[in-house]
Amino acid sequence: MKIIVHRGTNQVGGSCIEVCTNEARIIFDVGEELPDKFQSEREKKLLIVDDLFVNSKTSDRKIDAIIISHNHGDHIGLIDLTKEDIPLFIGKTSADVHNTICDFTSKGKKIKKHKYLVHEKSFNIKDIVITPFLVDHSAYDSYAFMIEGNGKKVLYTGDFRSHGAKGRITEWFYKNPKTTNSDVLLIEGTNLYKDNYIAETETHLGKRAEEFMRKTKGNVFVLQSSANIDRVVQIYKAAKRTNRLLLVDIFTANILAQMPSSIPNPETFNDVKVFYPYWLTQHLFKEENKSSLANKFAKYKLQKSELKQRTDLCVLVRENMLWDIEKRMNYSESSVIYSKWEGYKTDKKVETFLTFFRKNNCVIESIHTSGHADTNTIKDFIKYFKPKKIIPVHTETPKKYVDLFGDIVVEIKDGIEYSV
Ligand SMILES: [Zn+2]
Ligand SMILES: [Zn+2]
Repeated sequence: MKIIVHRGTNQVGGSCIEVCTNEARIIFDVGEELPDKFQSEREKKLLIVDDLFVNSKTSDRKIDAIIISHNHGDHIGLIDLTKEDIPLFIGKTSADVHNTICDFTSKGKKIKKHKYLVHEKSFNIKDIVITPFLVDHSAYDSYAFMIEGNGKKVLYTGDFRSHGAKGRITEWFYKNPKTTNSDVLLIEGTNLYKDNYIAETETHLGKRAEEFMRKTKGNVFVLQSSANIDRVVQIYKAAKRTNRLLLVDIFTANILAQMPSSIPNPETFNDVKVFYPYWLTQHLFKEENKSSLANKFAKYKLQKSELKQRTDLCVLVRENMLWDIEKRMNYSESSVIYSKWEGYKTDKKVETFLTFFRKNNCVIESIHTSGHADTNTIKDFIKYFKPKKIIPVHTETPKKYVDLFGDIVVEIKDGIEYSV
């Protein structure tokens, strides 16, 4: 078996990994590069893989499958550009959330004709057997993979952690007898640049959010990603324990509607209501076939007068909703939970959003934890997996793996073939 990390040996995001035999070629993830936090104008590097994209060079060896670990843009972002006849595999909820995001943004086409990944259900692509394992990550329905072929075993972790709601599931992956003694472990190392980093658990974060909400007299506005479901759950629980009504916008409502019934959503939880951001709603009604996305939740809408008057709300918001907050909601004595990566604070829209609240004397508290593994989780992985070789991916500091685990770590370069 051979491994080619087309992108990711020395960067976070934009992942693309090929695993192949003489018979089969499989691509894991087709990610778009993340924006450069220091040079936003920097041009994105082109990802060159024969036979993968519509305009790629063709060889005599077609790609047999594209397998997507999860729906973050740095793993699925280039899917629109790939050849349509390559079979695509992705988790069901992951695909549904991706398609909902496409419905609401001009970016990206919906995916169709895909096959679903199911936890621990192995499938064959020619002479390669793939077994997906659900893992805990900030994207719901994320998978790691065991890849077997030519008598060899390779593991690819995708993005993972163990301090979220599905921590036990990650544990099942690394403590599973099937996954030990792999020939190669392709493992992400996003957080390894921070020495001995210990991540706060989502549950602990929820307790902090609760304490913060209790201290706030007015409404609490939470700036977070709508697709970070673990976080929505923690914020919902904190709101409930402090007698607040959770208010989500029409986009978040559509995302939550894709989730299992245990996840709070306006259709089945009577303490979750919906509001319609003005510009987004206008846009939905102007576009063909999109009004149903808005109409679907009409009966769960919080009435205009309540939206203006109530001070017991916990509102999930995005930066571009400032107009709605200012004109249509009550923000006196309110506060903000900033629940995203700190680096986004330099983004113009985020800055404007936070400045508005600061000027209105509202307290802003950062309550966030990483979507990626901390050092202890990575050490546990290596301890239980006992891999013969480790190839770090999705990291800017592959050398830290060498520092921690010594000479079983192989540092390869993007695009170079590695024989297993
Ligand atoms: Zn990623
Ligand atoms: Zn991710």
